[in-house]
Amino acid sequence: MADMAALAATLSGIELSTDRALLRQKSRDFYWYSPILKAQLDGKAAELFARPRDEAEVLRILVAARTARVPVTVRGGGTGNYGQCVPLEGGIVLDMTAMAAPIGITDGVVEVEAGAKMIDLDLWARERGWELKLWPSTKRTATIGGFVAGGGAGVGGIHHGTMRERGNFCGARIATMTDPPCILDLEGIAANPVNRTYGTTGVLTRIRVPLTPAQDWRDVAIAFPDFTQASRFALELSFADGIPKKMCGVFDSQLPPFFRGLADAVPAGHALALVMVAPGALLALRELASEHGGTIVAEQSTVAAERDGDATPFYEYCWNHTTLQVLKKNRGVTYLQCRFPFEGTLEALEAVRIPFREEVWMHTECVRFGGRLTMSALPVIRWTNAERLAAIMAAFEAQGIGIANPHVLTIEEGSNYRRVPGDQLGFKQRVDPLGLLNPGKMRDFTPLDAPVEAA
Ligand code: FAD
Repeated sequence: MADMAALAATLSGIELSTDRALLRQKSRDFYWYSPILKAQLDGKAAELFARPRDEAEVLRILVAARTARVPVTVRGGGTGNYGQCVPLEGGIVLDMTAMAAPIGITDGVVEVEAGAKMIDLDLWARERGWELKLWPSTKRTATIGGFVAGGGAGVGGIHHGTMRERGNFCGARIATMTDPPCILDLEGIAANPVNRTYGTTGVLTRIRVPLTPAQDWRDVAIAFPDFTQASRFALELSFADGIPKKMCGVFDSQLPPFFRGLADAVPAGHALALVMVAPGALLALRELASEHGGTIVAEQSTVAAERDGDATPFYEYCWNHTTLQVLKKNRGVTYLQCRFPFEGTLEALEAVRIPFREEVWMHTECVRFGGRLTMSALPVIRWTNAERLAAIMAAFEAQGIGIANPHVLTIEEGSNYRRVPGDQLGFKQRVDPLGLLNPGKMRDFTPLDAPVEAA
């Protein structure tokens, strides 16, 4: 067992802590959405907290950790859902939030330190006429490093796809766990092996992502008599090339009563669509909603809402915030992540929504994958047990619906259609041969000095 006190003594000048309450807090994320992960992860904690201010401090920490063979689990905002930043084998939790400075914008590409909060980065870019193409619904808490390493889908996906699309992630600087640790600058597809690899393939210190011209987005809430009408509207909006849009989520009638701030505006028994559109497209949106039997029940400025600590931008009801809004009032639920087929999207959706309606409360988000539009879904599910959840997943898969299982720990088991192409395993063998970066999260990896099992 490593002597953490001796290790810490080599890191003077760096912000460190062994306070147990802090270590517990900084060793958690939102894995508790999943009763399966909660049973596996409760109680896991790092032994040393470290918060570097620059790349030099990151390297000093990695040198010390490598020398002592101590695992390092990187952490941004700690909003991941799959226990991605829970240290499974103790060691150091490396908090990146002190490295948060924007570096600059070149040809519409921003370079930024990886611990920057996405809201701060977006507001900084807005002052210069730009905005992020993509952000998670946790924009007000999550870091850009955590989004690249652990997330990758969300607001903006209806237009720009996900972070796995070529061009949405331009490059990164990473610190390796080699002997000795060093900084690598990865450009273009060479950076794929650090995209959505849960901090197992290097510590991201700087990130480069493309921006898009800023819009003064409008949040619009539209109530529909039923879910099918709302879904038809959502798909037609998605394909309406003349309407600039950033988001469209659809919620079956069980869900709006959980949305504090919107619940009173949505008539009982109605489905809801939450949309972000450009101000100049409001007229076209109103006409489209009305053609599908929808009524606008609330409207606000997205940017004004996200700057106001007391307000809720509508994206905080969407993506995986939907599950959170329900969990605030009802702890007896969990969720799934899935993607509907590109053809026959609505048929596949209804084929699972209707038979499971009592226990699966449908919530979809319009999103592009590889240039094609479909709906992904984060339905809220009444929790019974793991067997019942597996049966629901199997029924979804039988309809051609892809599942990205959020109830597992490893990249390989969970990612499915969200996996980024590239040789992530080979890259890890090069940059972290001892497997000290977030151990336990890349299933197929075997550390170099691991004992070889007898044939
Ligand atoms: P963390 O949780 O701190 O870390 C996530 C992973 O990235 C970990 O494996 C960690 O080790 C790694 N990591 C963090 N920083 C670095 C770094 N600098 N270098 C290397 N590895 C690093 N996700 C989406 O994609 N879209 C959504 O819309 C979305 N909505 C959500 C809503 C709620 C309510 C919740 C709880 C979660 C949601 N998520 C969503 C998941 C999560 O919020 C996002 O993926 C977010 O971007 C994670 O950022 P973070 O800074 O909190 O990362």
